[in-house]
Amino acid sequence: MYADLHLHTNFSDGTYTPEELAGHAARCGFKAVALTDHDTMEGCERMGNACRERGVEFIPATELTAELGGHELHMLGYFLDSKNARLQGELAKFQEVRQQRIVEMVVRLNQLGVPITTESVFKLANCRSPGRPHVARTLVQGGWCSGLDEAFERFLRKGKPAWVPKFKISASEAIELVHQAGGLAVLAHPGLNHNDDLIPPLVEAGMDGIECFHTKHSTTMTQRYLEMADQLQLLVTGGSDCHGMSKGKPLIGSIKIPYECVERLREKVFQRAAEGGVMLAAEIPGADPKS
Ligand code: AMP
Ligand code: ZN
Ligand code: FE
Ligand code: FE
Repeated sequence: MYADLHLHTNFSDGTYTPEELAGHAARCGFKAVALTDHDTMEGCERMGNACRERGVEFIPATELTAELGGHELHMLGYFLDSKNARLQGELAKFQEVRQQRIVEMVVRLNQLGVPITTESVFKLANCRSPGRPHVARTLVQGGWCSGLDEAFERFLRKGKPAWVPKFKISASEAIELVHQAGGLAVLAHPGLNHNDDLIPPLVEAGMDGIECFHTKHSTTMTQRYLEMADQLQLLVTGGSDCHGMSKGKPLIGSIKIPYECVERLREKVFQRAAEGGVMLAAEIPGADPKS
């Protein structure tokens, strides 16, 4: 029994609809999946329904962009109450920042002689939480770049001419935001940060786990983070970070983590709720004492 706890849909920068993604999850034989769209939970309701129809357990989640000591990091929040007022308010602000950033990136591209429009990017993105991949796809569609990699390398990567810094909440605020919404905070793909010194302060701030299994983690990296999780008493998660088709096939199915990881997560959510009287997300199977 396996799970994939890192997936994106077209509610952020993935290309699959929730229904398409749930179909892939079922065909891969997953017992449980989580939807971790960037700075939004809008896809969770449809994904939850689509998973239920296919007999796949669903965990409502998101991937927040946060910052620690000037470094960007991604904080996953699992078992979140998508109706939590403060969470909803903060997500709306992050989405506003993302939309404004698209406008600024297009201005820079125009200054560089690339005449794409903000309208074309927003039309292609067709979501409230757009990001650089949508700009990249617009550049490819317009024939300005041969592929997404070229778009990032020439224009969009940090430090490249159309890159625009993004406002980010601090990592400790992200952890607190997740906790007050009844969820668990997990550091996404730590191997991509190239800075393990960030981990102890995050643990100090109350972070619950680290994503040990990830498509871009080598076997040695995964091993290192599993050991770290053990030493620091952190929960272990993992996922494919599938954004749709990638080099001819979807990444979903390439990472299969043991279902026990989900059980450990759920135990901690219940333990927290019991200790702190936090409202549990209605979506958690078994959360309703009557069920
Ligand atoms: P943003 O959230 O707007 O800063 O965009 C970050 C997203 O861009 C990441 O989540 C990745 O999905 C994607 N990304 C980063 N680098 C590349 C790349 N070289 N090619 C394609 N997608 C990328
Ligand atoms: Zn993404
Ligand atoms: Fe990420
Ligand atoms: Fe991701």
